[in-house]
Amino acid sequence: MLKSINPATGKSVKTYETHSEKGVEKIINAIDKTWHQWRFTSYSNRAGYMQNLSTLLRSRKEELALLMALEMGKVIREGVAEIEKCAWVCEYYAQNAESFLENEFIQTEAYRSFVSYQPLGTILAVMPWNFPFWQVFRFLAPTLMAGNTAVLKHASNVPGCALVIEELVRDAGFPENVFRTLIVGSNQVENIIRHPAIKGVSLTGSTPAGKSVASITGSELKKCVLELGGSDPYLILKDAELESAAKICTSSRLLNAGQSCIAAKRFVVVDEVYSEFLEYFTHEMNQAVFGDPCDSETTMGPLARKDLRYELHQQVVNSIKMGAEIVLGGEIPNRKGAFYPPTILENVKPGMPAYDEELFGPVASVIRVKNEQEAIKVANNTEFGLGAAVFTRDLKNGEHIAEKLLDAGCCFVNDFVKSDPRLPFGGIKTSGFGRELSTHGIKEFMNVKTVVVK
Ligand code: NAP
Repeated sequence: MLKSINPATGKSVKTYETHSEKGVEKIINAIDKTWHQWRFTSYSNRAGYMQNLSTLLRSRKEELALLMALEMGKVIREGVAEIEKCAWVCEYYAQNAESFLENEFIQTEAYRSFVSYQPLGTILAVMPWNFPFWQVFRFLAPTLMAGNTAVLKHASNVPGCALVIEELVRDAGFPENVFRTLIVGSNQVENIIRHPAIKGVSLTGSTPAGKSVASITGSELKKCVLELGGSDPYLILKDAELESAAKICTSSRLLNAGQSCIAAKRFVVVDEVYSEFLEYFTHEMNQAVFGDPCDSETTMGPLARKDLRYELHQQVVNSIKMGAEIVLGGEIPNRKGAFYPPTILENVKPGMPAYDEELFGPVASVIRVKNEQEAIKVANNTEFGLGAAVFTRDLKNGEHIAEKLLDAGCCFVNDFVKSDPRLPFGGIKTSGFGRELSTHGIKEFMNVKTVVVK
């Protein structure tokens, strides 16, 4: 049984029967059977369904946003934006998949030689709750357009979202069993990965989950894409436009109540502008209105689960014990629900959880550094490598730092890191490997086939 619980009230929303082992086997076999036809369908055929899916998403966006609010606490406005982005990624791949996967002709001594992109089969997606639709759709749209079929194991606290995604795909007209949802816990993932019909795995989640899945896919020699945790550094250089940097940093830290892999998490500020930046930043962070995600006044909902709030608070408390100082927040509010206030910690040093670990909630770690060189060193002094941003009026220098000096998969100048269907997305180091989105994402689960005709 899986249960969704409203994190704003602690009340149960609904319980769901889980699939039995036999049920899982049956579904995977049915998807595999379907793949043998789906792989030969035309791009225009697939694109038609994908466009329908996009239209359906837009027409149901308010209702889907409400479901997210109830299951994991996302404020309605952010939920609606998430669904619109899902509709965009469907359109994007409906329009571009064919050209991304065109044959590439290469001149050799043969009569014809070329690279052809052929689908691999059924791909398993293991997905997190924080963007319950977007994480799935950015996988689903390229995967189905490429001629693969897919099966979803979503996070255990969002079974309603998981099932409605399956329903949307069916309602868009895709053949039955091109895409299915399994209602199972993470203890069943290993068996699913080892099923002979599963040809690859895409996991978005924490680094420990990634390590576990990678060891299983490794032992099976199956391809995997891992989108894992992050502790993105935002560098505030001495020539940064401080007021706008503080606004952008706040938006990035507080989006989705701070539960985003690419949220700004460590703020590395050079000494010369430290006090001024901290003043602006504290002011901005303090503007957040946290409360019922369904209330239109609310800008920040609760965390998705009480156990996650406990873990976050422990990281804060332990960092304070080691010498970090509270500038803002840091105390669990006396009210129902998994709420946590916008929090700023300063005097954050290596060895503290706030410096070394991912803080998955609205807590900002501010680190003071002497100069630009030290800022870059501190930014890279982490096991993670997902995103990073640098704020400076010197665009040339900003670009140089972003391109050459920051060790991360997505580096932005004067803006917060965000995913975009047109740009590749992914990390390095323990933030994972492989890329989603753009032309790179759609090629991850393909046989890059060499064809030579003499
Ligand atoms: P999580 O606990 O790792 O769960 C993610 C998914 O993996 C869930 O479906 C979960 O199932 C499953 N899972 C957990 N442990 C597993 C294991 N040992 N073997 C197989 N599957 C396992 O992560 P989360 O708390 O949902 O999400 C937060 C994390 O995701 C953060 O670290 C965040 O940075 C990361 N994230 C990364 C990206 C990115 O693009 N890089 C995007 C979003 C989130 P159950 O729910 O049933 O346990």
